Formats: sequence, structure tokens, C-alpha cells
Amino acid sequence: MAAQKHSADSNYDVDVLIVGAGPTGLALAAQLAGFGTSFRIIDRSLTRSEESRALALQPRTLEALRPFGISTTLTAAGHPARGIHLHLPDQTLPVDLSDAGIEDSEFQHLLFLSQAETEHALAAHLSGRGVRVERGVELQDIQFLDPDDPFAGVEAKVQRLDRGIERIRARYLVGADGAHSTVRAKAGMDWRGSSYPGTYVLADLEVDGAEAEHMHAYLNEDGFMFLFPLGRPATWRLIAMKEDGDPAQATLESLQKTADKFSGGALTLRDPQWISDFTLSHRMAEYFQNGCVFLAGDAAHVHSPVAAQGMNTGIQDALNLGWKLALGARGLASEELVDSYDAERRPVGKAVLQFTDRIFRLASSRNGLLKLPRTKILPAVAPRASGSKALRSRLFRTVSQLDTRYRGSHMVDTGDSRLPAFLTTGPKAGDRMPDAVVLEQGRERRLHDILSTPGFHVLLSGPGWPADTQLRLHDALGQLSPWLSVQRLSVGSRLAAADPSEIQDVSGLAFERLGLSVRRPEILVVRPDGHIGFRSQGTDITGAVEYLERLTTPAAGSPAAV
Ligand SMILES: Cc1cc2nc3c(=O)[nH]c(=O)nc-3n(C[C@H](O)[C@H](O)[C@H](O)COP(=O)(O)OP(=O)(O)OC[C@H]3O[C@@H](n4cnc5c(N)ncnc54)[C@H](O)[C@@H]3O)c2cc1C
Repeated sequence: MAAQKHSADSNYDVDVLIVGAGPTGLALAAQLAGFGTSFRIIDRSLTRSEESRALALQPRTLEALRPFGISTTLTAAGHPARGIHLHLPDQTLPVDLSDAGIEDSEFQHLLFLSQAETEHALAAHLSGRGVRVERGVELQDIQFLDPDDPFAGVEAKVQRLDRGIERIRARYLVGADGAHSTVRAKAGMDWRGSSYPGTYVLADLEVDGAEAEHMHAYLNEDGFMFLFPLGRPATWRLIAMKEDGDPAQATLESLQKTADKFSGGALTLRDPQWISDFTLSHRMAEYFQNGCVFLAGDAAHVHSPVAAQGMNTGIQDALNLGWKLALGARGLASEELVDSYDAERRPVGKAVLQFTDRIFRLASSRNGLLKLPRTKILPAVAPRASGSKALRSRLFRTVSQLDTRYRGSHMVDTGDSRLPAFLTTGPKAGDRMPDAVVLEQGRERRLHDILSTPGFHVLLSGPGWPADTQLRLHDALGQLSPWLSVQRLSVGSRLAAADPSEIQDVSGLAFERLGLSVRRPEILVVRPDGHIGFRSQGTDITGAVEYLERLTTPAAGSPAAV
């Protein structure tokens, strides 16, 4: 379905106005385009940034980008992180990351790839769908259309380089306009947090003497220096703390001195493509939503680049929000569903801030006690930790964002299950849907691939499902029907199933990862963002229908319901 240009509702020019075409805004646009939502995306910059700020894509981000058909392109262009060499003052510890223990995803490694290439792939996807990013268009101000009802839409005042001031009335406005967000300021959302002391330097350049395709972390009493295998525009990305006495603007010579100090002269730096000094802060918006105005990505949260979370969290924000706005624009979202963006994503943003803050302070502190974990404790525990697959997997699942979940959200539901929760295994309502290779119409496909079409996916597993279940679900859910797919999931042989929509789990891995049983019927509703929304045992569809109705029925009299 192609994106619509204008809102069907004459109160608005467009259903969604996205401010900012960085990775967050582009990912949101891609999801809205998939739903055929009317939207515009503007950016004040005349050209796309060619700098690579973020340098790594997490497995969960690659999964999330699958519906736009770009994950394979990105994987082919990037470098998977195979291992990290921890260079400590007295020893070098190799930590193997080739087996990170995440079998339930097609994407099992952190992927090094320049942010510019990720943005390029998203922009190319959008352009293929006829979506044009409007560049040279700056948001200057916003006004709620009804001062007494912040949910009733917004008027944005934008300055166009070509045509002067334009006013755009939008049902929803999303600020994906980065750390210095105008949207955040104009919508009155507080920006809380502080800056880290010190200055840091990054450089994309060539390095002789560093083992290729590995990350290198140099840690000593003075701080850290990291080398990441970026690939393009240069083989390596160097990030280090600046020291007293370093020049105000780092140069190749000053970086060589830093490298000498950390590596004992083992590295030679050359051919820099980009050298930049930067400061860091950790801040978060008080709320991610004010009525019909939303914040996503760096506009909502910024933190240190530790563990490559920033851009990845922004893309995940966008994919949590996009389908909610798409359904809202079609009159198919309860107010609770649209409001759940803040409730689901703000805790994730907060957790990322806390987690990156802890690691960053340990990596960068020059204070006596805080240096201890870096200089004394890490050398002692790292070998044992890296040798434990269970621990590696736990750590990597958190960093890779595969374990992000919305269990406490009102937008997920465990239904009226017959079995007590402690007797069930596998992911719960709110968790990410695991992946596995299955068979559909005799063809091997990834479960995630099948579930990537925009909308809700209902999976019926186990025995006893009446033949008309699909029909009853579609009948009961009326208007939602075009955004609903219902399929049987069975442990099957390689013989083609009688029902062409049946998914056959030939290896049994999908059943195992989902904690399903061939003897027990179960119903799962997978949300458009790939999280399990509803899960319940038995063949009664009432719970699933009520769950979907609760999410998609606007309150009587609300603008979307009229
Ligand atoms: C040194 C460094 C290293 C990093 N490394 C990583 C990493 O390894 N992994 C990771 O995930 N993240 C990393 N990050 C963070 C990552 O770069 C950001 O999180 C990411 O760019 C945020 O994307 P965004 O789309 O939210 O915002 P941005 O990329 O900042 O995009 C915002 C867009 O909004 C536009 N805009 C702003 N104001 C207006 C306005 N008023 N009107 C119209 N348009 C406007 C801007 O022109 C811009 O194009 C790093 C950051 C830095 C600084």
C-alpha cells in the first residue's frame, strides 16, 4: 500500500507530520508508508548527513527493519562483530563474540555499519514507495488546534527555503528532530539530565597494527580508547577521551600520541577521513507525549555512545509508535493505544540511560575508587565471564535489545488461560516474538518474514481448532479485518499442508522457542511491532477478540470515531 498524501479528514492537511529525517524519522516514515497512512516528513537540512555518528546496528534493529526489505542489504554491507580484544595494562584478553547465544534471531551479531548507510537504505526504500523527504523545511512553532484539547490536532508553522512560511494542520506530530528538538521545546516537554565532564574525540581512519574485524578496547588508569571495525568511509572508528594538554581540536598527531600511550606504540594511525571532538550528556524528556505531539529518538533521550544504543533505541521508538498512529489515523485505535507509546517506551529510554551511564562512568572515571572496576576487577572477571555462554547470551540479549519487553503494559494481555502462569514456558504477552525457520506453502521462510506484513497476526497452535475460526475472527473484528491475518501454526512434516495458510514448524524450533505444545491449543496475537500482544490457552477466541477490540475501538464521540 502506498502512502497517502492528504488526510481523509478535512480538519487536517495530513494525518502525521514527522519533523526530522534522521534514522528515527525515516524509520517512522517507512512504517507509516507500509500502512498507507497520510504523512509528510520534513527536515531543515538540505542534504542527508554523510557523517557516521552511530556505527553499529543491533540485531533487534535489523529485525525491525525487515518489513522494509533492507535488512539483507544492510547485513551484506556491514561487518559483524566477531570478537573484542580487551587490552589491559598487563595483558590482552580476547573475548569471542562469534557465538553470542541468540539462536532465535536471524541476526546474531552486532553489525558495524556507518549511520549514513543505514539512513541511505531507509531513504532509498521510501523513495521506492514514492515518499519524498521535504528538505530545507524547518519547523518553527506549533499550536494545538484546540487549546482545551491537546488531542485534537496541531498546527505546525514551518519555514520553507523555497516558498516562505507554510502552516500544516496535522492530526499527530512527531518530533524526531534530534537532541536540540524544537518540537520538545514548543510542546513544553521538560529536558532532564546533565552533561558528562570532559571532551571526547572520534576519528574515522586507517590503523596499522590492529587485528582486523575485531573491536579493540584499551583500558588503563587514564581512561579508554576504542577501535571499531567500521569499514566505510574508513576501516576503523577510533573513540577516546581527551586529556589535559591535548589541542582544542584533535589532530592526527594528537591522536597518534593517545594511541601510543594506550597501545605502547603498537599502532600507527593514518589517512583520517573525519576527526571530531564532542561532549556527551545523558538526558531524557519528562514525557514522550503531550496530547497529539510525540517525541522519538534523540529528541526523547540522549546518552553516551556506550553499547551502541542511541540510534537503535530511536528506531525502536519509531516502530512502537508508527502502527499506533497509523491505526489512530484510520479511526482504529483506542485513546489508550495511542497513549501507550509513552507508557511503553519511556521506561525503555530510562533503562538505556541508566545502563549506559553506569558503564560509561566505569569506563571513563579518573576517580580513585571508580577506576578499580576498570583496572583491577575487569581483568579478573572478564576471562570467566567470556567463557560462560549463558552469561554472554544474557548480556548480549540486553545490549542487542532482543530482550526489550512491555509485560506490564495495558496494551498486552495474558487472557483467561487455563494453566497457571508458572506452568507455562516461552515468551509472555509483551515479549518479543522469537524467530525460527518454518514452511509455508512448501517454501522455507522465516516466521518473522511471514509476520512482517503491516497489521496484527493471529497464530492458532495445537489441536481442536474449528475450521471456521479464521472466518469468525474476521467477522468479529469487522473494520480491523484488512489489518488482520490468521494462520494455523503446526508441527508439520514437509508434505504440503491442506490449508495453504498453515505454517508448518518442521524442525519443532518455533514450538520450542514459543513454549507451545502439540497437545494444547493456544492462541497468540502478534502486534505490528513484533511483540506478543495476547497469549492464551484453549480454542475460545473471545479473549483475543476482546483484546483486539480494546486496542482498536475509539471512545464514542472521539474525533477518530466520528
Ligand atoms: C560520537 C557518536 C557516536 C555514536 N555512536 C552510536 C552507535 O554506535 N550506535 C547508536 O545506536 N547510536 C550512536 N550514536 C547516537 C546516534 O547518532 C543518534 O542516536 C541518532 O542519530 C539519533 O537519530 P535521530 O533520528 O533521533 O536524530 P538525528 O540523527 O539527530 O536527526 C534529527 C534530524 O532532525 C532535523 N531537524 C532538527 N531540527 C529540525 C527542525 N526544527 N525542523 C526540521 N528538521 C529539524 C535535523 O536536520 C536532523 O536531520 C552516536 C552518537 C555520537 C555523537
